[in-house]
Amino acid sequence: MSLTILTYPDPRLKRVSQPVQAVTPELRQLAADMAEAMYRADGIGLAAPQIGEAIRLIVVDVTGPEQRSGLMTLVNPRLTPVPGSGSVQTEEGCLSVPDYRSKVKRHAKVRLEAQDLDGNPVDMECEGLLAVCLQHEVDHLEGTLFIDHISHLKRSLFEDKLRKRMGR
Ligand SMILES: [Zn+2]
Repeated sequence: MSLTILTYPDPRLKRVSQPVQAVTPELRQLAADMAEAMYRADGIGLAAPQIGEAIRLIVVDVTGPEQRSGLMTLVNPRLTPVPGSGSVQTEEGCLSVPDYRSKVKRHAKVRLEAQDLDGNPVDMECEGLLAVCLQHEVDHLEGTLFIDHISHLKRSLFEDKLRKRMGR
């Protein structure tokens, strides 16, 4: 099945997603379809609310759509900053916010706890692009977009640009 990625300001992107209760064949299929949609859109991460499913499921692959060697499918992911690891500023984009990028401050290292599609626990420390990408995707599960982290000035410039593009 081909999934459609919702774009801002779709209100479904603002919902808080619910925990996944069980890994079913349907959930596995959804995760596979999400990975395909992410690669097709040239992304490195996609969260279920971006395709209209308000559940705590994300896919990430920071090796990108060419290499496709680092796919992680994470059920009910939780992140905690690693104490003392500081912060990083990275230019981010989002498949739900086309044609816009901005620097966002994130924790440099995070501990990831989740389940994989076999129900096995995932518990690892992540840094670099993976840490940034995970924070971006887990934000989606709370209804938060990267543009919610930028300055008021940048945000209003973005909204102006969007209004013009949408002819409003
Ligand atoms: Zn995003």
